[in-house]
Amino acid sequence: MPSYADFYRQSIDQRDTFWAEQAQLIDWQTPPRQICDYSNPPFAKWFVGGTTNLCHNAIDRHLKDRASQPALVAISTETDTERSYSFAELHAEVQRMAAVLQSLGVKKGDRVLIYMPMIAEAAFAMLACVRIGALHSVVFGGFASGSLASRIEDAEPVAIVSADAGSRGGKSVPYKPLLDEAIALSKHKPTAVLMVDRGLAPMAMRAGRDHDWAALRAQHLNAAVPCEWVESTHPSYTLYTSGTTGKPKGVQRDTGGYTVALAASMKHIFDAQAGQTYFATSDIGWVVGHSYIIYGPLIAGMTTIMYEGLPTRPDAGVWWSIVEKYKVTHMFSAPTAVRVLKKHDASWLQKYDVSTLKALWLAGEPLDEPTAQWISDALSVPIIDNYWQTETGWPILTLANGVEQQTTRFGSPGKAMYGYNVKLIDESNGEELTAPNQKGVVAIEGPLPPGCMQTVWRDDERFVNTYWKSIPGRLIYSTFDWGIRDADGYHFILGRTDDVINVAGHRLGTREIEESISSHPNIAEVAVVGVADSLKGQVAMAFAVPRDASGLVDDAARLKLEGEVMKQVDSQLGAVARPARVYFVTVLPKTRSGKLLRRALQAVAERRDPGDLTTMDDPVALQQVKDLVGS
Ligand code: AMP
Repeated sequence: MPSYADFYRQSIDQRDTFWAEQAQLIDWQTPPRQICDYSNPPFAKWFVGGTTNLCHNAIDRHLKDRASQPALVAISTETDTERSYSFAELHAEVQRMAAVLQSLGVKKGDRVLIYMPMIAEAAFAMLACVRIGALHSVVFGGFASGSLASRIEDAEPVAIVSADAGSRGGKSVPYKPLLDEAIALSKHKPTAVLMVDRGLAPMAMRAGRDHDWAALRAQHLNAAVPCEWVESTHPSYTLYTSGTTGKPKGVQRDTGGYTVALAASMKHIFDAQAGQTYFATSDIGWVVGHSYIIYGPLIAGMTTIMYEGLPTRPDAGVWWSIVEKYKVTHMFSAPTAVRVLKKHDASWLQKYDVSTLKALWLAGEPLDEPTAQWISDALSVPIIDNYWQTETGWPILTLANGVEQQTTRFGSPGKAMYGYNVKLIDESNGEELTAPNQKGVVAIEGPLPPGCMQTVWRDDERFVNTYWKSIPGRLIYSTFDWGIRDADGYHFILGRTDDVINVAGHRLGTREIEESISSHPNIAEVAVVGVADSLKGQVAMAFAVPRDASGLVDDAARLKLEGEVMKQVDSQLGAVARPARVYFVTVLPKTRSGKLLRRALQAVAERRDPGDLTTMDDPVALQQVKDLVGS
């Protein structure tokens, strides 16, 4: 066994040898000719000349040895159902879905947008797409019609797969009206819409365009759809994420690099074995859902659990009862979920036998020490923080316990993972900070390792300009996070360098929320900032200047307008983006040159010292904010 330090060094110093070895973890139809082509930086091509298929590696490859082992268990505490599919059954379902998609005109390279709750059919749809070489673009079910429409327009899907409704806290959330509205709003129209009817909400079906999954599935019960062998660099999917500008970016992922990266992460990071059980509590609308609900565990031959429901319903023991029942070995969740559980008695977690758990991995937002300590005491299993992004597809910082057991340090997501040449950069001059405990921008020297984004969907220029040109004088990938590294190589993440906020692990662009709010007829101008919150990590807070404030005579009138603004955000972006408060002001704090003083606004909203304000135009602006938030 090499030490992790040696393993890491090899991944950087002998990059191609290292990844050639990792490439052996998956099946190739044609082996790669070249490991990494980085002749056109920052565009990296991994495993050039190789052909493979993601679905083959996730399912077909395991049929020989584990056809009857459960591959996917879909549990819903919303509908009180548990459906289990062996690898053989999953193989059959995915082929049926693939045949249905083909019958609707989907071909290799086409996009299929998936707007679904956490049900097994969502997994079938994702796997069916990559089986036939089509690209899926999953949109989180909590997003509303405006967000959905912008993604439909950008991805230009041939088909959309959706369901009548999701369910949350026992209440059904109809999807079809939002979907119809989004299609109406979008300039691009899909040719086919495939609806899974769960019997939760009525659906208006449009003849010729909308199709019923159950009816078409019945026509393709014995479908045999072979895997389409695609080039390693063939895109497997796009997944939209928020950045500084209003328009979400389609993160585009390849096939071969992603499959190898996930297979390697299952071995080295998760120390996972085929036959074990993985339970990630995320949603397929997020990157964790892609990598560690669907692809990673299946590639490793594990059973994966998909969960629809809350962590506290019917009670706070529900996840741990699943761990006991299915002998879960690997669990992956988010700090927010733990903070929700923390409001309940720890005895709920101790009611069940969780001794099968090797560890609980947490990611998506900063894991504060008290939360880590609480869950560690409650569960008595190792708690492992991991830091990464939609863009990277797998952890940048964590512990690679499959290589060498390392100790968790609460407050730190851990060490740089193999393949990631992580640097801390002085933002002012682009120089690397090598001494310990210095604060810099967390950056990654190219090439990004396999599995990371190839580019922004149909926008190479945006990929280069957004991620690789933000640090003066060097072509280096910026994560847009501040960080420090201690003398032992443990990193600490200190927050975003840009205008992105993280609400309960959901990444939101403040500009996106601002755009939605300013489209209200009575809002002239608005600033949205992220404010620290003990449950959600951060919440969005809006400060808006009304066009006509004459009606805002009392609290009732202000609350009415606040309610209208919130409703507008709900209907355009979804409740995830709804600000916790909308405060009305007469002027926003700006510099004399008209630049919004976001940091100062955020500081005051968090009741902190706003710092140097010498460039501020009108001091009244911040005073109003102070009065409103009571700081
Ligand atoms: P997303 O692309 O939605 O996964 O969001 C990625 C961003 O979430 C990162 O750039 C960080 O700002 C934040 N993030 C993710 N994981 C962690 C973590 N373990 N600790 C601190 N911040 C995190």
